[in-house]
Amino acid sequence: MTLAIFACDPAQSRGRRYAQAPAPTRSEFQRDRDRIVHSTAFRRLVYKTQVFLNHEGDLFRTRLTHSLEVAQLGRSIARSLHLNEDLVEAIALAHDLGHTPFGHAGQDALNDCMRAYGGFEHNLQSLRVVDALEERYPEFDGLNLTFETREGILKHCAPVNARTLNDQEPGGVAQRFLDRTQPSLEAQLCNLADEIAYNAHDIDDGVRSGLITMALLEDVALFDNYRRQTLAEFPNLQDKSQGRRLLYETIRRMLSAQVYDVIDATREALTTAAPQSADEARQMRPLLQFGEEMRQQSKALKKFLFHQLYRHTQVISMTEKAQQVVHALFAAYLEKPAEMGEGFFAKAQASCNLPDPKGALARVVADFIAGMTDRFASREHERLTGQRLLV
Ligand code: MG
Repeated sequence: MTLAIFACDPAQSRGRRYAQAPAPTRSEFQRDRDRIVHSTAFRRLVYKTQVFLNHEGDLFRTRLTHSLEVAQLGRSIARSLHLNEDLVEAIALAHDLGHTPFGHAGQDALNDCMRAYGGFEHNLQSLRVVDALEERYPEFDGLNLTFETREGILKHCAPVNARTLNDQEPGGVAQRFLDRTQPSLEAQLCNLADEIAYNAHDIDDGVRSGLITMALLEDVALFDNYRRQTLAEFPNLQDKSQGRRLLYETIRRMLSAQVYDVIDATREALTTAAPQSADEARQMRPLLQFGEEMRQQSKALKKFLFHQLYRHTQVISMTEKAQQVVHALFAAYLEKPAEMGEGFFAKAQASCNLPDPKGALARVVADFIAGMTDRFASREHERLTGQRLLV
């Protein structure tokens, strides 16, 4: 497939931190994608919460199925816009690798625990996973991915963290947060695909859980337009015997509409801005975008999900328990690092010799907890406290 002039070209990659000979049959971005799929952190995504805790039901999204949906939507849009599909896939599959167990509740709790030591941020952690925490190669830590994939993984970064990262890797992936420039168009696309994916699948999971209803969704324009359209064509879908076909057809139409909207609005923006290279696109305003009406509708849907689902008392009550688990784990390992097991205990011991031993130990503990699946965290909590809060 031909790449657009503004797409990232693997032959022009800014390369890997440790130079490696090219692969005989794969481009550099394909190779990144393959390294991500074979990583330990990727396999853990299957047992990590997206919104609903993993044990609440077998059919809810997990971080893994969410990441696959982001990759599917991203690739589909990339192909239409002649952006680099392999790079989009690599970024999408890696974008949530740094997530803690128990979704946002886990991340908030860990951030709280780490407040005195620089905090915890999942985008930064995703980068840490691929740069440092995966131990699979004899010559280096991490997966040694290309600059372009790492740039896409680091979606947000607070200025203070950006400065630290930039000191370690001058002019590297954190530079853009200091310069306030954009990442590649492929990375911008992954951010939008992420949003499109979770807006749609959280409706599906929300209805499946019974926490939101089709009646409530009638207030959401983006959903209701396509629900009406579907019913006009297939009135029998009102019938109970039809199960969830009305929901699925509505979500399908909603997803397609958003994908086509992004493709049209972005094409227009690209035509006007006319970047002549991937680098020139990085210097411009964000070019991957919804049209104005869709942007508003997507925002309204997000707001609905925030109030009706993410803030639902049932979700909040699980959230509180999950936060208790993370706090208790953090305190326990900080006190007895040997409880983390060999590899992390060794890192904890090595942290004694670092300039800020307390902070370094806390970071080792945070890395250990962040890597846990929901069920491993619950079991560890029970083992260390004798209390069973979840599962
Ligand atoms: Mg995501």
